[in-house]
Amino acid sequence: MQAGAGNGALRGGIDLGGTKIQAAIVSPTGEVSGEARRPTPAEGGPQDVANEMARAVVQAADAAGVQTDSLAGIGVGSPGDSNEETGEVSEASNLPGWSGSFPLGRTLSDALGAPVRVANDVDVATNAEFKLGAGKPYRSLLGVFWGTGVGGGVILDGKRWLGRGAAGEIGHMVVERGGARCPCGRRGCMEAYAGRKAMEAKARREYADGAKTKLFEIMEEHGRDRLTSGIWERAIEHGDKLAEKLIERALKALGAGVASAVNLLDVEAVIIGGGLGVRFGQPYAEKIAAETHKHLFVDDRPPAIHVAALGDLGGAIGASLLFDE
Ligand SMILES: [Zn+2]
Repeated sequence: MQAGAGNGALRGGIDLGGTKIQAAIVSPTGEVSGEARRPTPAEGGPQDVANEMARAVVQAADAAGVQTDSLAGIGVGSPGDSNEETGEVSEASNLPGWSGSFPLGRTLSDALGAPVRVANDVDVATNAEFKLGAGKPYRSLLGVFWGTGVGGGVILDGKRWLGRGAAGEIGHMVVERGGARCPCGRRGCMEAYAGRKAMEAKARREYADGAKTKLFEIMEEHGRDRLTSGIWERAIEHGDKLAEKLIERALKALGAGVASAVNLLDVEAVIIGGGLGVRFGQPYAEKIAAETHKHLFVDDRPPAIHVAALGDLGGAIGASLLFDE
């Protein structure tokens, strides 16, 4: 534990996303006493993003009635490649101008007067579910965040498993050799079938080739320019055949990837989160469980499958937990 990180002291947590920055002030037991949300800058570079992050923490601290320099520490869940030792973040390709490496931890620590730790966003969200959410009853689990891409986090024997820093990339488990092109550039990854970005690209290709679908009509009706989780859900409610086909394809890929991970690690539970995972909820978690079951080597005691329980604040709360370790 960091000097000054007494058990009673409040922590800060920041979930840095491609569209929004969510900050929260959190007690050691996970209660949120102040929060703030700001849009992620669409232009500029890492320093501009860091400035907005610092503003979000100051706002959340104001709401909680504390100063940022009184916090025991501030945790950050970041996309891209986060180095937990140095607090540097590189290759955060969904953030503006962030192709190189940037000392995010040090920059925020200087701005806010508290120690800062930086980790992968999906790892901290998985850890939050493990400590405070749907994963509380278990000692080992897999977090599967089904959204724009498919992120993963691993808890083994009560601890986050990071490997050499890059563990948990379940979206890039190969479910079909030489298969569909993944946004990562490789072929046949689970994400190439189940990630929302890849699903949208596939839907657009089929639509251009004459497939009948209401997906894009619904998208326009709702004033959107991409197929959000809500649009997929509405299309399914309308009985849209293309949407049903692509969701089915996604569920099969998720089942193959999750089962392969379970065959390797034999975790007790799988927690399904992410935009699509939470939107589709328990009925689809059960469909994923059924697809998983087909590929389990030891199929008489499948892992429990739950939907993530902490919702929108899970990432920020999970980041604050970096100061409990
Ligand atoms: Zn991939």
